[in-house]
Amino acid sequence: MADLEAVKVSYGFVEVFSTQKRRAVEMRQRPIRDRIYTLKRLRLIVEQHKDEIRRAVYSDFKKPALEADLSETYVVISEINHAIKHLKRWARPKSVSGNVTYFGTSSMVRYEPKGVCLIIAPWNYPVNLLLGPTVSAIAAGNAAILKPSEVTSHTSTLMKRLINDNFPADELYVVEGGVEQTQALLKLPFDHIFFTGGTAVGKIVMKAAAENLTSVTLELGGKSPAIVDSSANLKDSAEKIAWGKWVNNGQTCIAPDYIMLHPSKKAEFVSELKTAINKLYPTDQRSLSEIKDYSRVVSDRHFNRLESMIKNAVESGADVVHGGKSYAEERLIEPTIIINLPEQSDLLSDEVFGPILPIVEYESIESAIDYINSKDKPLSLYVFTKNSDVTEEILAKTSSGTACINDCVLQFMQPNLPFGGVNHSGIGKAHGEFGFIEFSNQKAILKQRVGLTSAKSLYPPYNNVKQKMVDFMMKYI
Ligand code: NAD
Repeated sequence: MADLEAVKVSYGFVEVFSTQKRRAVEMRQRPIRDRIYTLKRLRLIVEQHKDEIRRAVYSDFKKPALEADLSETYVVISEINHAIKHLKRWARPKSVSGNVTYFGTSSMVRYEPKGVCLIIAPWNYPVNLLLGPTVSAIAAGNAAILKPSEVTSHTSTLMKRLINDNFPADELYVVEGGVEQTQALLKLPFDHIFFTGGTAVGKIVMKAAAENLTSVTLELGGKSPAIVDSSANLKDSAEKIAWGKWVNNGQTCIAPDYIMLHPSKKAEFVSELKTAINKLYPTDQRSLSEIKDYSRVVSDRHFNRLESMIKNAVESGADVVHGGKSYAEERLIEPTIIINLPEQSDLLSDEVFGPILPIVEYESIESAIDYINSKDKPLSLYVFTKNSDVTEEILAKTSSGTACINDCVLQFMQPNLPFGGVNHSGIGKAHGEFGFIEFSNQKAILKQRVGLTSAKSLYPPYNNVKQKMVDFMMKYI
């Protein structure tokens, strides 16, 4: 409590939080059309500021305009359109049937807004991962405080302006800042926290939420493997993996983190992968730094981390078979493929989250499955194969938040699929109806008739007849 008092004194957003708390009660009673209105307003603002979004993410890490459109603006608009189209159905109370015990009653699930939510975003898709969950929060009827990442400062400032200038603060409000501000926000008794970021910070968020028994959605990271089975079309697999890995410069939570490959296919696959990289980022006429389609590592901290991953790998005897050079002044690292890594290498233990792709060899599908199961459950798992038995075996014997067969990353954008991890890669699900449910309290309501009820007939004092009734009910439940 003393902590909370200190937060109240130091931070202006506490006042906003209090007004949102008051407003949330009123918002709970508002018709669905009001939420649709807010969603349309958000869509208009995002559409009108498409160019500013492009400029902000370019300033932050030289993200190409087309990728900004596709992976920031388009994704948010598509999430909004999907919500507008289906919200009435999602929000409709759902009647549920009973059994003989509930004769004469009716039951339903009603979706009520959780109240005031906190949405904390990372830097890697700084618009998409801030506004995407906001769409679900609005659809479910909540007020929310949004905390963009301080690492992508241009986008953070833009998000603050777009939201705070266009929405009432007691409904939606952006608070900028880093660790200190986020930890202060986490002291407030929010009704739900939706956090996207690294696993270590996810634990901090969950511990803070526990103080207020606030529910959490944790969209975390980790190492997402891609198994390229010996039956796979290697050219097709390499093209898809090259795109999924190096889009956004490898800074995608569901990018293939490492490849698992049968040794007999290594030479051919590596050759196809190099061809695919050269097709995406052709350096025969220009240097890599002149190629506009290749983003940069977001910060010096991440640049140094990635550079030392390459250095450590080389020192431990691994082989860089493509790329490997880095340019600190530009935070530019070549698309890099590394093979023959010792198992204790940090490239195989830590999430890479950058433009380096380690390749691990496996002897059999069983040993590949054992390897994956020896690590934390991944956010995504990719299988490249023509063999449906192999697909089924891998899916059945491993656990991951999402999986994609013969492609990668695309599962994120399928609006009818839940998105999220499992254990270390996350808790809870996002997107579409799953996001709506995440931000809703599924209130269980049972309506009883007035007068004689089957329940009343079992009230004490108990006797043989009542015992027989219970015995009969036990048979038919
Ligand atoms: P991060 O965990 O460092 O930061 C995320 C947010 O938490 C930021 O807003 C930051 O200000 C805040 N934060 C950082 N340290 C904090 C602390 N000590 N206390 C309280 N708040 C703190 O993550 P990041 O570097 O921005 O993003 C990269 C990570 O996010 C990767 O691990 C990636 O896999 C993961 N990620 C997951 C998803 C997903 O949907 N599952 C999507 C994108 C990124």
